[in-house]
Amino acid sequence: MRVLVTGGAGFVGSHLVDAHLARGDEVVVVDDLSTGRIENIGAHVSAGRVRFLQGRAEDPAIIDPAFEGAELVYHLAAAVGVFQILQHPLSSIRTNLDASSAVFERAAAGGIRTVFTSTSEVYGKNATGGLKETDDTIYGPTKVHRWLYAVSKATDEFLALAHHQETGLPVTIARLFNTTGPRQTGAYGMVVPRFVRQAMEGRPLTVYGDGSQLRCFTNVHDVVAVLMALAATPAAIGEVVNVGNPREMSIRDLAELVRSILGSQSQVELIDYETAYGKGFEDMRRRVPDVSLLRSLVGFTPSTPLEETIREIADCVVSTR
Ligand code: UDP
Repeated sequence: MRVLVTGGAGFVGSHLVDAHLARGDEVVVVDDLSTGRIENIGAHVSAGRVRFLQGRAEDPAIIDPAFEGAELVYHLAAAVGVFQILQHPLSSIRTNLDASSAVFERAAAGGIRTVFTSTSEVYGKNATGGLKETDDTIYGPTKVHRWLYAVSKATDEFLALAHHQETGLPVTIARLFNTTGPRQTGAYGMVVPRFVRQAMEGRPLTVYGDGSQLRCFTNVHDVVAVLMALAATPAAIGEVVNVGNPREMSIRDLAELVRSILGSQSQVELIDYETAYGKGFEDMRRRVPDVSLLRSLVGFTPSTPLEETIREIADCVVSTR
């Protein structure tokens, strides 16, 4: 099978590329390397196993050849990480909206099976435990840039669903909950690789706010297995599906867990949100998925223990030093 992965040099995308190559598929990657890294797929590209097109997914000179012969499309190319969104709001909106529009149009024209990765951010401030795909989204004011990520990804979801309804695009929308694992960089916010690096370098672990905010962390290998299973499940077409490990943890407890697993002497330092992100930042208090729809569609849900994921990230940091 020929598989196209937009954002395939990124953290999740590159693991997806590995998994499809391991299955014997042909893989084409589109990535502008704005946050993706060529090292993530470099060995495959130089060995001729991956066709790599460097550029933006909305550029016809890139996306048209990328679609040639494609039988399955994963659309992952997007602005990534809270820091990135706050620093580059304009290009973040453009990236999220223009790329998705270009990819969905071409996939719809060819009737190509498409999996779009959305985010748990679309729930916004809805802090109900066990968020269901049908639950409300609750956003803050447009003056707070953080919400543009949620709103632009939610708009992409509307676009995918509108295509499904009107052009017959066979699309599944996967809402990923705090995916983490090897190759994830802490440069754009992501808390787990940040804490792992801080602990390994003997620096303080920077907990923002009072650390009582809750998240669920999902191992990237679990996410890849789910995305591939969804792609192979006809009943998932036209669906929005939560993808996450429902085990909840406060950020303060995460810091302690990282310290204890890595045997680190680092202190935990509380930093207020304004210092961390600038004025007027709003954080989400809690984000926990209900994964019953996912289980009913593919028969399993992400379950790798966070302890194991933290060790994998630490091993990756050591091997890339
Ligand atoms: N966070 C933190 N210290 C850091 C980076 C992030 O305490 O060095 C917090 C952040 O404020 C949020 C949580 O960890 O409450 C998860 O942040 P991340 O950027 O990984 O993902 P988000 O859930 O915000 O999309």
